[in-house]
This record gives sequence, C-alpha cells and structure tokens, in this order.
Amino acid sequence: MSTLHLHPETIAIRGAKEQTSYNEHNSALFLTSSFMFDSAEAGAALFAGSVTGYTYTRTNNPNVAAFQARVAQLEQAEAGLAASTGMAAINAVFLALLKAGDHLVASKSLFGTTIGLLNNILPRFGIEVTLVSQTDTDEWQAAMRPNTRMLFVETPSNPLNELADIGKLAEIAHTNQALLVVDNSFLSPALQQPLVLGADISVQSATKAIDGHGRVMGGVICGSEALINEIFQHVRTTGEVLAPFNAWVLLSGLETLYVRMEKQCANALEVAQFLSTQPQVVAVHYTGLANHPQKALVRKQQQGGGIVVAFEVKGGEQAAWQVIDALTLFSKTGNLGDVKSTVTHPWTTTHGRMTPEAKLDAAIQPGLIRLSIGLEHAVDLKADLANALKVITM
Ligand SMILES: *Cc1c(COP(=O)(O)O)cnc(C)c1O
Repeated sequence: MSTLHLHPETIAIRGAKEQTSYNEHNSALFLTSSFMFDSAEAGAALFAGSVTGYTYTRTNNPNVAAFQARVAQLEQAEAGLAASTGMAAINAVFLALLKAGDHLVASKSLFGTTIGLLNNILPRFGIEVTLVSQTDTDEWQAAMRPNTRMLFVETPSNPLNELADIGKLAEIAHTNQALLVVDNSFLSPALQQPLVLGADISVQSATKAIDGHGRVMGGVICGSEALINEIFQHVRTTGEVLAPFNAWVLLSGLETLYVRMEKQCANALEVAQFLSTQPQVVAVHYTGLANHPQKALVRKQQQGGGIVVAFEVKGGEQAAWQVIDALTLFSKTGNLGDVKSTVTHPWTTTHGRMTPEAKLDAAIQPGLIRLSIGLEHAVDLKADLANALKVITM
C-alpha cells in the first residue's frame, strides 16, 4: 500500500500489516520459530536470497516485519529494523557500523545505560569515545578527529530536557564523513522525526512511548536501506531480535501513539505550568514551557513538549524523597512514556552510579524529581503534587 499521501495518525493504524487468507481484522500473532518451504528447491531459493520470504524468526517474522516497516513509515525512513530492547538497538548500531580504531563523539547527557555501553564496553573493542556537551555544538566540532565515524545524541535530554541541535550536528558529522545517530525514545516519531532534521539514523526504545503501557521491551532503528541492511546483518547474526509477541503488542501501541502523545503533552504542560508557580519549587525543566532557554530550537525540532517534566525542590535529597513518598497517584518506577504517570529521583536512581561531582557537572541536583506524565486527569495529577509539596516545611 502506498502511504505517501496519508497522515502519520492514519499510518500508525493503517500502515504495514501482514494479512493472512483468514481475513483477520487485527494483526495475527505469528508465534513460530521457523517457516516451512514448499519444496527443497524453494528452501534453497529462500536461503540463497533469490526469492524473499520467511525462514526463521531470528532472521525475520511477519509481526516484526510489520512493526519495523510501520515505524519506518512514521519516521519517514527508507527502512526500519526492530531489536529486542532499546539497548540492543543502540548496541547494534555501534557494533554494526564501527570497528576498532574508529572514534565516536557523544553527548554527556545520554541515558545512563548508554553511557555505560560507551565507557565500559566499546573501548574493549578498540572504539574510542569522547563525551561532550549536550547543547554546545562548538565542543562537538572541537572533538572531531580524522577517525571520527559517528556522532550520537539524545534530544531532549533525560531528565533536564536540554535540546541538541540535530541540523547543526548533522552538518558537523557530514563534513567529516561521519554518521549522526539520534536516540528518539523521549519523543517518538509522533513528536520528532530525526531523519527529516538531517540525522542518518534514528534509534529508539519502543519500551517507552510506543508501547505506552509498560508491558513489553523493544527497540527500533530507522535509516536508509543501505545502513539498515548493514545493521540487519549484524542483528540476525548476534540474535538481538525482537520477539514476535512483543512486536504484536507494539503494533497495537502504535495505533494509539498519536492520540496518547497529544493528550500526555497537554497534561505535561499543565503540570509544568502548575509546578512553576509553587514556592517549594526552585526550577522546572520542560521543553513546552514558554521560558525554555531553547524555545526556537524546540519549535524547529519538536511537534510537542514531550511527556517528561523535571523539577527541583528546596531542601535537597531529603525533601525530594519526602515529596516522592507523599505522592499517591504517581508510580515510583523507572519507566516512562506510560499512560500511568511515574516519578523517580534521578540523583539516587537513574544517575545513582555517577559520582556526586559528575552529577553536579551534569546539572543533576539532589533535589531534582523526574515525572513522566500519563493520561490521568491533569487536575488529579496537580492536586496530588500540591498535596505532596506540603511536606516541605519552609
Ligand atoms: C529506556 C531508554 C533506552 C533503553 O531502552 P530499553 O528498552 O530499556 O533497553 C535508551 N535510551 C533512552 C533515551 C531511554 O529512555
């Protein structure tokens, strides 16, 4: 089906689908590890690649194929490739496209596990890594070397909602024959299309906004046919593939992605505006706020403020813990993008393994609280926060 003329909201529901002869309305679930050949000759042709078809689920599966194709349509990419988790997808991008002796430049403000991968695992394979400022493109430019093959960034950042300029980083990458890879987990294709802004690859954790209900893990990579094929050869070999059941769940997540994101952004903005008026709150970090320091870039890159609101309370770690424990509607859990609102304390959880100096250097304060805003009524969320903030005696 040609989807060129359709809106993304429609593609999310009516895009790539594998239809069987039973005329099922919802996608069928293909729980099978292998596929049969009509004859020995047909099997040989499939393995030789002279005809296309399914052979074995580590290589491809109808649920996985539909999921990755549909996300690629939404990211306006030539091709997509699913992986078992967001981290598997990120790891596959690095290991498929980099080799010993290559250099990678990445933002300091990445998801904690990605930083672990860059600092602890890639150097063991001879890949050099330099971490630079999220927002200062001059630092990226200065870090470039003749062997720099890739730039990696996540925008907006977690939890402070600082943007990186995708267009500028793409320019720096391309004048050095390097690739720009953007982690799009925070916004999803509903709110940002990194390839349209100049990136070569968009990678994301589907565990977050795409599932949207905190049920399954998944990851997806989008880019040109050539790049995705290279990464596919790696993923099918190392087995970091998405499970068919998870792909089936994620396909249904895609169907409601746009309407969820629109409402969750509206709720997040209400919560951020409310927090900005509270005397116990020192700072609010949300890209949808009128006073966001990179307002023009927000407007250029994003179709919404996103669902993560971070705020800092007076009284440091102790006050932050008291507020978190006094919340009754927000789940105390690390997931985000869920229809259920969640709360975490970055200083002692997501950023807990960093030294205090490194955290302060990254502007992560002990009093910082991260919210992921869901689909509950905004009035109830604000009332819960107002009540919890009362524990801070001033
Ligand atoms: C969660 C997350 C990941 C990792 O995804 P998993 O599905 O948990 O492996 C990577 N990047 C960002 C920005 C994330 O939020």
